[in-house]
Amino acid sequence: MTLTGLHLIAGEWVGGGDSFAAVAIGDAAPMAVQSAGPAEVHRAAEVAEAAFPDFAATSRTARAAFLRAIADGIDARRDAIVPRAMAESGLPEARLVGETARTTGQLRLFADHIEAGRHLDLRHDPALPDRTPAPRPDLRLIQRPIGPVAVFGASNFPLAFSTAGGDTASALAAGCPVIVKGHPAHPGTSELVAGAILDAIRATGMPAGVFALLQGDTNDLGRALVRHPLVRAVGFTGSFGAGRALFDLCAARPEPIPFFGELGAVNPVFVLPAAAAARGPAIGAGWAASLTLGMGQFCTNPGVAFVLESEGADALAATAAAGVAGTAPQPMLTRGIAGAYRSGIAAAAAAPGVETLARGPSGDDRHGTPALFQADRAAWEATPALRHENFGPSGVLVRLADFDAMLAEAQALDGQLTCTVQMDDADTDLARRLLPILERKAGRILFNGFPTGVEVADAMVHSGPYPASTNFGATSVGTLAIRRFLRPVCFQDMPAALLPDDLAGA
Ligand code: NAP
Repeated sequence: MTLTGLHLIAGEWVGGGDSFAAVAIGDAAPMAVQSAGPAEVHRAAEVAEAAFPDFAATSRTARAAFLRAIADGIDARRDAIVPRAMAESGLPEARLVGETARTTGQLRLFADHIEAGRHLDLRHDPALPDRTPAPRPDLRLIQRPIGPVAVFGASNFPLAFSTAGGDTASALAAGCPVIVKGHPAHPGTSELVAGAILDAIRATGMPAGVFALLQGDTNDLGRALVRHPLVRAVGFTGSFGAGRALFDLCAARPEPIPFFGELGAVNPVFVLPAAAAARGPAIGAGWAASLTLGMGQFCTNPGVAFVLESEGADALAATAAAGVAGTAPQPMLTRGIAGAYRSGIAAAAAAPGVETLARGPSGDDRHGTPALFQADRAAWEATPALRHENFGPSGVLVRLADFDAMLAEAQALDGQLTCTVQMDDADTDLARRLLPILERKAGRILFNGFPTGVEVADAMVHSGPYPASTNFGATSVGTLAIRRFLRPVCFQDMPAALLPDDLAGA
């Protein structure tokens, strides 16, 4: 398929703005990509708002058919999408085949979810006309879509968190038009997926304004998008700096809007003593595998493990170091990300009291060298380069003198996406003391596993207290994600003839 580098607005591929050159690895076709400006943002927002009343009024069955048509279109284009995504992201084929399936799976999951009507959270307090001292009116609650939503594609998930990813799927399922700012690292992939969405719009008769793709590589595009008065909410996955800047812009608008930012974390692992003694080598090997998976470019990457001084800690350190040193080299998502990662591990390696336990193979300036560090409590506390996410395959083993120190370090953590507990039965009392702290720190707490590989499911929570995310009441993965783009409306004493279909039978 020939790539145009154009934006998709109101069902048309259109130019506008300066252009930038897409970076691609290997023999992928070079691509000049348009960079949208305020005019394109305004046009996309206007058509999204114009499409909103009709789209919000579509039946759940019709929207489910739309989501399934998008999924089918992506499946049909898989042989074009996967190679382009490989060339743009440097991710391997197997990962991108899996990510394609995850993306279509998410779309179909949201189709099933809205058909079942569980997102509506219908509540009915029937009238009590004879209640004294005052009668109760008839009250019916339903969740309604909020309006046009802006979505920022993520560099590290060119499919599952980009053009038709979880944010887009959940917003469309809710009945909200979506304007995607494609990530500049994978514009060709975004265009191919947007083509599948356009075909689905046409096939299912949806209003053309329900989806727009704006390409671009300037901060000004993102800033204009979140400030546009017709945009009602933002879904974002990316860095702390960009997320915080965009969050502040949303809050500073004359009419502030919610910014659902997923900004990353260090995802601590707490290895309790009986588990370290019984399974230290296996835990170390499992940690290294999780840490280096996909060159560490996951927001759930477990960047720190706490363990009490012991022989089990030595054994854990040895297998973790071997795993990190033996990681095969792989390109990172962009040269910028690789450069930021290299600076992060250089700062960690140079910090007083921090020992480098292992380094993996290095490559060119787009590769990241896996690294494992070790620190005592003082070095951990004094080294910001260890305490903050360094996006890539590096981690630190923090060796602590006793369990009180582990509790204190847990208490001192910032908000996290995940916390992991490695424990055996003999650790149960200690785990019980740790849990109340962890519950206040993370959106997901897992036991005897590793946090990479986020299941897309009803019970999943992928968020956490700030700075892991900017909205701890929400999740960006799983069916609960739809609630970000809905708001409750109560109809009091509504005549039956006016009740929305979804409420009429409730
Ligand atoms: P990013 O720099 O945060 O960019 C994400 C999106 O925001 C892009 O569309 C970017 O496009 C835009 N943007 C960046 N800075 C902005 C600003 N000041 N104002 C308005 N828009 C802005 O993320 P990235 O490009 O994916 O990678 C950079 C770093 O992000 C990584 O090194 C890593 O630390 C972090 N990251 C974290 C996760 C995670 O899941 N935790 C995922 C991906 C990346 P423009 O540049 O075109 O404005």
